[in-house]
Amino acid sequence: MNRKYDVAIVGGGIVGLSHAWMAAKRGLSVALFERTHVAEGASVRNFGMIWPIGQTAGHDLEIALKSREFWLQLKADKVLEVEECGSIHLAHHQDELELLNEFCKTGTHGSEMLTREQVLARSAMANPKGLLGGMWSETELRVNPRVASTRIAKWLSDKLSVDLFFGTTIHSIDNHVLMSTTDESWIADQVIVCSGSDLQTLFPSVFSTSGLRLCKLQMLKTKISTGGLDAMKQSPAPHIASGLTLRHYSSFQNCDSYSAVKQRISGNTSELDQFGIHVMASHFQNGDVILGDSHEYGDQISPFDKVEIDELILRELRKVICLDDWNVIERWNGIYAKHPSLLVFEEEVDAGVRIFVGPGGAGMTLSFGLADRAWKQWN
Ligand SMILES: Cc1cc2nc3c(=O)[nH]c(=O)nc-3n(C[C@H](O)[C@H](O)[C@H](O)COP(=O)(O)OP(=O)(O)OC[C@H]3O[C@@H](n4cnc5c(N)ncnc54)[C@H](O)[C@@H]3O)c2cc1C
Repeated sequence: MNRKYDVAIVGGGIVGLSHAWMAAKRGLSVALFERTHVAEGASVRNFGMIWPIGQTAGHDLEIALKSREFWLQLKADKVLEVEECGSIHLAHHQDELELLNEFCKTGTHGSEMLTREQVLARSAMANPKGLLGGMWSETELRVNPRVASTRIAKWLSDKLSVDLFFGTTIHSIDNHVLMSTTDESWIADQVIVCSGSDLQTLFPSVFSTSGLRLCKLQMLKTKISTGGLDAMKQSPAPHIASGLTLRHYSSFQNCDSYSAVKQRISGNTSELDQFGIHVMASHFQNGDVILGDSHEYGDQISPFDKVEIDELILRELRKVICLDDWNVIERWNGIYAKHPSLLVFEEEVDAGVRIFVGPGGAGMTLSFGLADRAWKQWN
């Protein structure tokens, strides 16, 4: 039998790291187990957008803003670069402009309308053709997802003495004993399973009745040339979201003018609904531009990416943004688990043994806040 810990966490993605942080800062001894040697799951495959603007006003937005505070703390502690870039939603259709206007008037998210000229003054990426205006929000952050998990894990180990067991797959948890596939074992008072989209290895029967669904997203990367970078108006460059995004995030759905946007897009471009396509762009200071995305659920998920989806994403992006180089330098997909109605699926399967998975497409935005709320409830 290996060491005993106060808390054992399974999964080294952003959800597992969030719980490790909250537990360790309470002075508890923490072990974190991650199957791969370097995290490879959804937490490294995303846009790196911390996106409070997409969360419904009230409880969900508060969780996102709480998470934002933790990201800024990591920035202050020099754990990783966190850009306070804000975001611009572009309106290339009159109904999009009306929806953004209505949303701003609610005052829930502190966003403000921009004229066409103001958008173009802040973003070199916004396509001026057909641009009617936009919406500015200052709460959004950018982190580099390729390095964030690794940096946070190292910081947790160095500063908060979290023991990291990378390259260790936990195959069973019984009576608070965690067994690895190499027959090592550990015991912990509390166990938190943050296994992301892996719903098969541990507690498959709980997952099969949980309502959780898997969702696959296709993503692309381009690179802006140095000249293009120099042309950026606002630095750091704001995240860009299109009118299509207005039908994707829950924050806009209570507005009266929401249905007009949704119906126009469904009526004119049903292929976008078929693959859950909306388009966003995040421009990193090294010139990388991450573009996406699509959403295919459950049985629709194939191991093979669809060229058709990539082409639709690029077609829609070309309508709303300008890049000096559209050459795609990377393509990948990511899969996350999502519950249809809960912000995250949480279940205590045994006293002190909890499953905590499925923040869907907002895990980077919500995980610190969700873990903070959970630990306040549990202790
Ligand atoms: C393409 C894409 C784009 C996205 N964009 C954004 C965005 O911009 N902003 C945002 O807020 N959210 C975004 N999301 C959502 C966000 O990335 C996820 O919600 C989040 O990363 C989920 O974190 P996680 O820790 O649950 O999962 P993961 O990152 O997948 O981590 C789970 C980990 O558990 C490990 N594991 C599983 N089972 C075991 C076991 N038995 N033993 C040991 N280890 C195990 C896995 O190896 C994995 O590393 C995006 C998601 C995708 C896929």
